[in-house]
Amino acid sequence: YKSIKDKKGITLDGKRIELNMNAGLVMELNQLEESGADGIGLFRTELQFLISETLPRMEEQKNFYRSVLDAAKGKKVIFRTLDIGGDKQVDYLNLPIEENPFLGVRGIRLSLENLDLFDSQVKSILTSESLERIKIMFPMISTIEDFIESKAFVTKIAKELNVEAPPMGIMVETPASAFIADKFSEIVDFISIGTNDLTQYIMAADRGNSDLGHYQDPLHPAVLRAISNVIDCSDKNNIEVSVCGEMSSDPVAAFALYVLGLKTFSMAPSAAPFVFEILNTHSKINKATVKETILSQKNADEIRTTIKDIIS
Ligand code: PEP
Ligand code: MG
Repeated sequence: YKSIKDKKGITLDGKRIELNMNAGLVMELNQLEESGADGIGLFRTELQFLISETLPRMEEQKNFYRSVLDAAKGKKVIFRTLDIGGDKQVDYLNLPIEENPFLGVRGIRLSLENLDLFDSQVKSILTSESLERIKIMFPMISTIEDFIESKAFVTKIAKELNVEAPPMGIMVETPASAFIADKFSEIVDFISIGTNDLTQYIMAADRGNSDLGHYQDPLHPAVLRAISNVIDCSDKNNIEVSVCGEMSSDPVAAFALYVLGLKTFSMAPSAAPFVFEILNTHSKINKATVKETILSQKNADEIRTTIKDIIS
């Protein structure tokens, strides 16, 4: 990552690519300075809850967010509200056992059903001193009402605290939100595509089941068409769209995203030099033609071959 630090994400065609990093622990943030990443594109707040043995009190949450912002040293941070449920179970919350946790009360659904929990998290974020570089992102949104309700909740708390509500966006990680991205992009401040879950839900293949590895391929044309729709709708409404799933960290897949028009990526910092190198080297290709080609292909292998032929 150090090798691209001074290029400031400008590719050979003179366009700006924003490279952010994903994190969930304070100790990861030293890589932010080392790497020169633009900021934290996804901060997984649930990690504090997952590594704790008891429910983190509001004071602990406040301290945690404060240390994240301090460690980010002036760079922007997108805090994703709790994404508990599914593969991220927290015993001390004593949540009901579900038959299909991935299709259950997870992400924003859990926050909206447990408003005390949501309240203490939002208050902890909004009382931090660096509000001007914070954005709030809601996970597992699948209906317009999920977003409106969440936004109203944060706005109400911001009013109570007498602070300005930060920009609020959603993760697109359900087929429902990908298909109505036109509607979402009219009302949200930004979108980040969570390709780990989006792939799992489009392909109906549990992301944790290694026997299903060949189904969990974000280069499947169904997944790429969904992503393409989200990028096009966001562009049309002039809102920032990024990808923060693992797909961004794979140079071949990241190149597919670039061809679809993506300009903002959030990834593991160690992947960034490879991704930047590939985007940079091939930034002068005719993206529209390659986009048309890959969106008309019938499986991930064909798409992968097309991309590898270009970048090898
Ligand atoms: C995703 O689903 O792509 C994502 C970034 O969220 P997580 O991996 O934390 O579920
Ligand atoms: Mg997810």
